[in-house]
Amino acid sequence: MKIRVLGCSGGIGAGLHSTSLLIDDDILIDAGTGVNELSLDEMVRIRHIFLSHTHLDHIACLPLMVDSIFAHIKQPVVIHAQQHTIDVLQQHIFNWAIWPDFASLPSGNSPVMCYAPLEGGESVALEGRVFEAVAVNHIVPTIAFRIASGERSFAFSGDTTTNQAFWRALNAHDALDLLFVEVAFSNEQLALSEMARHYCPLKLAEDISQLKHRPEIFLTHNKPGLEEKILAESLAAMPDRQLSLLEGGMVFTL
Ligand SMILES: [Zn+2]
Ligand SMILES: [Zn+2]
Repeated sequence: MKIRVLGCSGGIGAGLHSTSLLIDDDILIDAGTGVNELSLDEMVRIRHIFLSHTHLDHIACLPLMVDSIFAHIKQPVVIHAQQHTIDVLQQHIFNWAIWPDFASLPSGNSPVMCYAPLEGGESVALEGRVFEAVAVNHIVPTIAFRIASGERSFAFSGDTTTNQAFWRALNAHDALDLLFVEVAFSNEQLALSEMARHYCPLKLAEDISQLKHRPEIFLTHNKPGLEEKILAESLAAMPDRQLSLLEGGMVFTL
């Protein structure tokens, strides 16, 4: 399994894109502005998109990507997401006012995209890669993902703050090789992080102490300009963990 980081910032700016991860060459996790890193040929190869939640930084490029590949694909792109996320996309994005309803174009029988509901606790197997969804604690319904390919595994927290479900789900398996976990805010923004339901380093440290695995850990979704502060605070709060900042363009092979 190959993981390419298209975007992993908590904002945008020169060289910074919001969350999108490419798994092998056919699956996206989230469709933030990182999708802009893909060529048309690369976008056309995407067959499945897993969405963690409805927030704009995770879906911003979905409408534009589907439009871009419209004339070039024969099978619909499958959007895997919680029913709540699907409902919001249909009501507020693909509603003919913001953007056309591509789940009915060019026809209802042969659309360019379709939806596959995926709730916490459920798994989807795609050619040897198993995606397990875990409901986490964000301000809108959100799922994290654990992805296994053979003996190797990777997890992505999505947007979340303090929760037990994610860590319990990871501990339920024998191993975890790689973890991308969000730390949006610094410790001095604790109140804001609680209000927006994101982690700050101290809150992540409390939760991660229960993780029995020793994966390589990359911090993601940092607010722009706070990356080094969040890394320094995280290293201080979790000195026994192997931590780095996730950066756009990084590629991992498991
Ligand atoms: Zn969010
Ligand atoms: Zn976000």
